[in-house]
Amino acid sequence: MVEEKRRFSIANLFRRTTPRPADRKVFNPGIQEKDNSYMLTAPIIYHIANQSIIVRTCVTQLKNEIFRRGYIWEEKFVAKCDDCCKEHKTPTLECVDCGSTNLSKPNRDQLKYALSFMEGYVNKSEQLFIDVLKELEDDLNIMDDGYLVLVKEYFLDNDSEIMMHRIKEIYRGDPVGMHIYADELGERGTEGFTCLRHRDFISDTPVASCPNCGATELYPIHYVNRVNGEEQYFLEGEVLHFSKYTPSRLYGLSPLITLWNSVTTLIAMDNYINSSYTKARMPRGLLAVQTRNIESMKSFWKGVKEKMEQDPHFIPVMGIESEGGKGSIEWIKFMDSLKEMDYVSVKDDLRDRVSGFYGVSKIFMADNSSSGGLNNEGMQILVTNRAVEMAQTIWNNYVFPFVTKEFGITDWVLKLPPSEEEDEVAKLRKRELEVNIAASIKNLGFEIDMDDEGRFSYSKPEPKPEQESAGGNQEEKVELDPYAGTNIDASQLGQMQEEMMNQGKKQENPATTRNKPSMDSGPDKRFSGLPEAAGNQNVDKRTERRVG
Ligand SMILES: [Zn+2]
Ligand SMILES: [Zn+2]
Repeated sequence: MVEEKRRFSIANLFRRTTPRPADRKVFNPGIQEKDNSYMLTAPIIYHIANQSIIVRTCVTQLKNEIFRRGYIWEEKFVAKCDDCCKEHKTPTLECVDCGSTNLSKPNRDQLKYALSFMEGYVNKSEQLFIDVLKELEDDLNIMDDGYLVLVKEYFLDNDSEIMMHRIKEIYRGDPVGMHIYADELGERGTEGFTCLRHRDFISDTPVASCPNCGATELYPIHYVNRVNGEEQYFLEGEVLHFSKYTPSRLYGLSPLITLWNSVTTLIAMDNYINSSYTKARMPRGLLAVQTRNIESMKSFWKGVKEKMEQDPHFIPVMGIESEGGKGSIEWIKFMDSLKEMDYVSVKDDLRDRVSGFYGVSKIFMADNSSSGGLNNEGMQILVTNRAVEMAQTIWNNYVFPFVTKEFGITDWVLKLPPSEEEDEVAKLRKRELEVNIAASIKNLGFEIDMDDEGRFSYSKPEPKPEQESAGGNQEEKVELDPYAGTNIDASQLGQMQEEMMNQGKKQENPATTRNKPSMDSGPDKRFSGLPEAAGNQNVDKRTERRVG
C-alpha cells in the first residue's frame, strides 16, 4: 500500500475536535426546563423564602452590605499603546512591548451615554440601576439564577441587518418565567431563530424567511420568557444569565432546596408558637377523674369547650364526690412545654445552618435563654466580609463586563467597591511607602515623573556625553552614595554612628526606619526567658512598633 505523501502545511492538515460532553440534564433541544426533581418549583421556593424570617433577614442584610457603597467606574488601564494595543496598568512613558511612545489615556467620551443613562431611572418602572442589581442579588440568593435583561433599540438596514444598537432600558428577568434556549450540549443560539421585526415568529433553521415581512436575516434565540401563556424570545446580548452558588452550563441550584428542611421546620415552629398563643386549639391539659356518671362528664366537657373559646389558657378542673374517697386524680398533659421540647436550642441550631450557608453570622443581643428563652429579640446580623467579597466577585467578573461590553465601553470598568472602607491611615502609610520607593529609585539614577493621579513613572536618563571641561574635573565627579537605594540618609550617618558609640554596645533588635519591613524571623524578643510556647509567635513584625 502506497502511502500518500503529503507535504506538511497547516492548510492540508485535517481538523478534528474532541467531542463536547453532552449534558444529562439537557433532555431535548429547545427550551430547557429547570430541574424539578425535588418537586419544588420556582414559585414555591420564592414563597417559602419570603415566608421565612431567617432567609429573608440573611438575604436582605447580604444585599444591603454588597451594594452599601454603590458602584463606581474605574479606568481599565493607565495608558494604552496605540500601535500594539498593549494596556499598561502602571504609568509609563513608552510601551513595554513595542517601545512606541504613542500612548493614550482612557477615553472619557465612552462613558458619556452610560453615565447619563444610569444617572436616572433605567426603566419605565422608574427603577434605579442599583435597584435592579438588588433585585437580581435576591434572585441569586433564592433561586441561584439571575437574568439581566437589556432592552435595546436596533437600527436596521433594508436587509434587516443590525447596523447599531442602543440600550434603552434595563430590567430584571423573572427566574420563574425565563428559560435558556439551548441544544443538547447546552449551547445557546443553535435551535431557534426569529425575526427582529416580528419576535413572535420562530424558525428551527436560520435559512428561512419571515412570513410577515419576508426578511431572510434571522437571529438565533438564546433565552425565552414564558409568561401568561406566551413566549418572548431574546437574542444574544439582550439577556445575561448568571448563577452564584452552583454555576453550571444551564441553571444554578437554589440554596432553598438544600436548606428546605431547616427553613420549613423554622416556619412550622413559628406557626406552632403563633397558634398556641392566639388560638390554643387544644387545652394544655386536663384533670381526669374517675366517674360513674358519664353523662355529667359530657355536659362538663361541653362547658369546657365554651370556656376555652373565651380563655385559651383555661384549665378545666372537675371535682366529683366518690364513696369512701376512692378514685385517683391524674394530670394529663397535651402540649409539651417549650422548654421540654428544647425549643430554643433547636431553633438556634436551625438558624445557624441557614445563616451559615449565606455567610451571615448572627449575634444575639441580651440573650437570656435561661428565663424562658423567647426573649432573645434584637437579633443582630453580621455579614462576613468573605460573603460580601464572594458576591461582589460575581458582579465584577460576570455581570459588569457584559454590561460595559453592550454599552460599547472598552476603556473603563464598572465595579462594586469593597463594603469595608479603606482605612485613611493605611492609605497615607501606603502613600508614604510609595514616596520612599520613588526616592530610592531616584537614588539609583532614574528620573521620576508624577502624573495627575499622583502615580510615579520612572525613566532612564539619556547618558550624558563626557564633558570636556577644563579643570574642576575632580569636583564634578559624581559622588557615589554607598547607601543609595537604602533607607539610610548619608547626611545623618555621622549622627547615627555617634549614637551607636554612646550606647556602648550594639543595640539588640535595632530599630529600623518606620516603613521598612523588618525581615528577621527569630523568636519574639518580648518573650525571652519564657518557654517558647508561652509567647504568641504569630506576630506580623511589619505592624509591630517599638515603644520607648
Ligand atoms: Zn506597543
Ligand atoms: Zn418579520
